Amino acid sequence: RSSTVKWTAQNKYSTKVEYKPIRSVLVANRGEIAVRVFRACNELGIKSVAIYSKEDRAHIHRLKADESYLVGEGKPPVAAYLDIPEIISICKNNGIDAVHPGYGFLSERADFAQAVIDAGIRFIGPSPKVVHQMGDKVAAREAAIAAGVPIVPGTDGPITTKEEAKEFCAKHGLPVIFKAAYGGGGRGMRVVREMSEVEENFQRASSEALSAFGNGAMFIEKFIERPRHIEVQLLGDKAGNVVHLYERDCSVQRRHQKVVEMAPAPHLDPKVRNQMTDLAVKLAKHVGYENAGTVEFLCDSKGNFYFIEVNARLQVEHTVTEEITGIDLVQSQIRIAEGMTLPELGISQDKITPQGFAIQCRVTTEDPAKNFQPDTGRIEVFRSGEGMGIRLDGASAFAGAIISPYYDSLLVKVIAHSKDLQSACAKMNRALREFRVRGVKTNVPFLLNVLENQKFINGAVDTYFIEENPQLFN
Ligand code: ADP
Repeated sequence: RSSTVKWTAQNKYSTKVEYKPIRSVLVANRGEIAVRVFRACNELGIKSVAIYSKEDRAHIHRLKADESYLVGEGKPPVAAYLDIPEIISICKNNGIDAVHPGYGFLSERADFAQAVIDAGIRFIGPSPKVVHQMGDKVAAREAAIAAGVPIVPGTDGPITTKEEAKEFCAKHGLPVIFKAAYGGGGRGMRVVREMSEVEENFQRASSEALSAFGNGAMFIEKFIERPRHIEVQLLGDKAGNVVHLYERDCSVQRRHQKVVEMAPAPHLDPKVRNQMTDLAVKLAKHVGYENAGTVEFLCDSKGNFYFIEVNARLQVEHTVTEEITGIDLVQSQIRIAEGMTLPELGISQDKITPQGFAIQCRVTTEDPAKNFQPDTGRIEVFRSGEGMGIRLDGASAFAGAIISPYYDSLLVKVIAHSKDLQSACAKMNRALREFRVRGVKTNVPFLLNVLENQKFINGAVDTYFIEENPQLFN
């Protein structure tokens, strides 16, 4: 197997970082997550700095920061937030101390992390070397194996021909799942159950990957039947201390994308929980993981679990972990980037005790009646659900906000925290019913159907749940 050698040779990223006090943070992102980071900065007495594309010039994330700068003029709306040289020069020209990448956009780009560091600015995240290693499916799996973490059988590296695909399927048996080797967000994935379908599906998945990610290379894994998606939140520091903040269950997915997330995972065998969290910490220690990160697993009904990937960044669903642990992950990220250790932050494994149960619903401007087609326009009326145990993380959730077609359709994350799954569901259900949004369609009716489903309330769902229950769309 040549993949390790190949990966090592490709690894041009440094591990050296310079720690220094952070007085200003630029968020290389937009919308909800930019505002989330600004709030953390504000509470720490740190200046917050936004970037915005021309399309976002009236967007609230620009106004929520202490300072803001236009990026990517003349570029397409998404490209603006990917403009590394311009973002770096904004940082340099304005004396910015640190950059937070949020999620999506540049958050998993080792070259971005490296460019930030080379400019003498702190990158709020793992070292570029680790970002690179975790973003490379083959290298990440090798690290998992070396740390003793079970993985799903898969191809040794990215493959590009249908012959290689057929060979893997013949050797390992079906079903399998095709994944874009350089992709994410569930796109370019295909499950194959019949030998006769391998060729055509490979070709289709590969061309989908090529148009979505600019690279048609694929990765094949054995498909785990009826899995639950369970992931472990980690924090690591410069001294090599790593703690876990327990797990989240993100099994409620539509087209392999998370819709409702919760913590802790319902009915998880405590033995399995211990093994998973232990192995996640081992993996992080093995690679020298610093800052916040997540190790994702698929679990089958027999209690077996398999590593799928590490997300070397903050995740959309970090909120539910914050609710049950009381630890502000974004503030922790900033302090760790300054060089503070976990003990200095008062964070130690024995002091992390989950309290109660938290659920997050992603309220999007998508129309469930029209196959979740994104809706756009001006929000005419907006009232949200509030009250005890409800948290709202959003940016465009107000009357007068313009929902543009250019970016993802997340409107607001609604988080309910209560003593157990059933009462958190009741709270979420009540809060979502209080929402009044006019002017754009939202997925709230769909979320309410999920929350009223008995299987869901019993905490008995796997990743097939939405697909198997078409009545949720009515
Ligand atoms: P992405 O990086 O695109 O989000 P992931 O590898 O995290 O992709 O997988 C996303 C989802 O796809 C998982 O949560 C799971 O529902 C499904 N999935 C991925 N790999 C497998 C597998 N080997 N067997 C069954 N389901 C899988």
